[in-house]
Amino acid sequence: MMLKVGVTGGIGSGKTTVCKVFELLGIPVFYADDVAKSIMQTDPVLKTALLNTFGENSYTKDGMLNRAYISSIVFNDKQELEKLNSLVHPAVLRAFDNWVLEHHESPYVIKEAALLYESGGFKMCNKSILVIAPTLIKMNRVKLRDGISEEDIQLRMNRQFSDEMKIKYADHILNNDEKQLLIPQIIQLHQQFLLIGS
Ligand code: ATP
Repeated sequence: MMLKVGVTGGIGSGKTTVCKVFELLGIPVFYADDVAKSIMQTDPVLKTALLNTFGENSYTKDGMLNRAYISSIVFNDKQELEKLNSLVHPAVLRAFDNWVLEHHESPYVIKEAALLYESGGFKMCNKSILVIAPTLIKMNRVKLRDGISEEDIQLRMNRQFSDEMKIKYADHILNNDEKQLLIPQIIQLHQQFLLIGS
């Protein structure tokens, strides 16, 4: 059985940065949030389900996803958003299962997801890593990276579980507070996973 490790953390915590280091160590990473976006364009089963649920305007005549239209439906409508998630989520799980099969030669694999605990996706992982950092640092990183306002970042933060909550689920915690060195913490986990995975 392939060892599957979930990596998560709040917005700006540095989970993608952490995953890039794992990739440098040769470990394949499945970026669930990116896949969720791309399969709306590529998974025929999901495409049909979206068309049936949100209507023919969901895709343009040449088959391109009409992201603006779908966003306008689910924006500020919790029920519609839940409908969308209930279609996309199983498709991401299918994509992950197939991706794992393609990487069977790897000692372990990583799944990165912003809402790993919130979505229940962690249940499909054997271990999970939570990346944490102080709120102010996370805020400043995202402001710098995305150029968006503190209010918008706060709104996004409010949609995620708090770190206090997530810590209860986490098997491992990486402290990315720019005081403790990050890479040695990652290498230590990598060594542990190599032992478990072999
Ligand atoms: P999101 O959920 O918003 O995608 P994330 O958790 O994936 O965020 P990253 O994109 O990895 O976070 O990091 C946010 C920003 O902070 C990036 O620009 C990254 O380069 C920077 N960053 C992350 N960790 C550090 C660090 N230890 N020192 C300096 N900059 C960092």
